[in-house]
Amino acid sequence: MMRSDIDLERIQRRLDALWEIGQTDGGGVTRLAYSDEETAAIEYVCEELEAAFEIRTDHLGNVFATRDSDADRSLFLGSHLDTVHNGGRLDGALGVVVALEAIQTAYAEGDPQIPPTLVIFRGEESSRFGQWGVGSRGALGQLTVEDLSATDQSNVPLWQAMQSQGLRPQNFSEPTIDLDRAVGFLEAHIEQGRVLHEADEQLGIVNSIRGPVRHRVTVEGDYDHSGATPMPLRRDAIAGSAKMVTEIEATASEAAEGGDLVATVGEFTPEGGAINKVCGEVTFPIDIRSNDESYRDETETRMLDRVQSIADERDLEVSTSLLDRTPPVELDADMVAHLESLITEFDVSYRVLPSGGGHDAMNFQYAGVPTGLVFVPSVDGISHSPKEETDPEAIHDAAALFAEMLLEGPPKRG
Ligand SMILES: [Zn+2]
Repeated sequence: MMRSDIDLERIQRRLDALWEIGQTDGGGVTRLAYSDEETAAIEYVCEELEAAFEIRTDHLGNVFATRDSDADRSLFLGSHLDTVHNGGRLDGALGVVVALEAIQTAYAEGDPQIPPTLVIFRGEESSRFGQWGVGSRGALGQLTVEDLSATDQSNVPLWQAMQSQGLRPQNFSEPTIDLDRAVGFLEAHIEQGRVLHEADEQLGIVNSIRGPVRHRVTVEGDYDHSGATPMPLRRDAIAGSAKMVTEIEATASEAAEGGDLVATVGEFTPEGGAINKVCGEVTFPIDIRSNDESYRDETETRMLDRVQSIADERDLEVSTSLLDRTPPVELDADMVAHLESLITEFDVSYRVLPSGGGHDAMNFQYAGVPTGLVFVPSVDGISHSPKEETDPEAIHDAAALFAEMLLEGPPKRG
């Protein structure tokens, strides 16, 4: 029934039009947070809305579009339109286009149980300012004035980038969404991993979002001449750090067998190293994620202990500074169950899985709004790349699922 009414061609046309905005030579997209390209993408989506939609832009530039702004309750659906530098055409854009398609299909089919609101969040990606989910955190009153002083690579502060887009950010603790009206939030997104693709599943229903704990590790030894310093007299920061990195990976691999856990050293910086020197200082970050906070923190302790033992064995100094400690989020169990029951009507293969990355949806659940996050497969797990791809049928099914939720209503609260 509903499945055939989703207009996949309209979805593809919109995704293609958004792809044009900020398109790079290799077929990627650069629409950075609070850039002119992001603004142009938002304007394009607003032009696709019928006159019946009332459009509101908040002081952070987030856009809310609804046909019934006086309704005492609303179901919010959406995602973001900014991208990383030379990112793919689907991350964020897919969620906005799917939400719009679901809303328009539901109105064409009948009457949504709860009037929906299309949401476009600004500045979800952290690649420009190092600040993640700026729009959604701001909309939910989770942003601070300090967050706005973050700067990009050209030293432009976030607040100034906002002003350059005609915005006047203010009153940060004040949500711009009336949370008492929000009965739920739905977001569709590419998985950004390879779990669904490998398992050949059409859709994923996210039940939790892994929270990261991140440290920066600095390892100090001595700088010495590579020819003149006998092996037993060295305090080699590179050799010691390399051992720490493999030990971190081994600890994570062990932990992954007993629970949900991933850990990564994503960069490695020797300070002033050279071919003819024993290097005296290395820094590297550790990013540890799990959907189980205590399991994550136990693993973290074990990992940091092992790093310390390697430093002790090699007479190196090690210091760590905490960069981030974000709790994992359990998405609303009733929402997960409701999505599962709707999806079974479609005869679509799916799996329930944790999300490795943060999404705007996470901030809604933090704010206590029942939240559903649906993944379409990332072909070969590729994301944040021009090679980002997914199966058009999966996009179709995600839109159909949301349209069905609009017509049948969100889960009944017990
Ligand atoms: Zn995204």
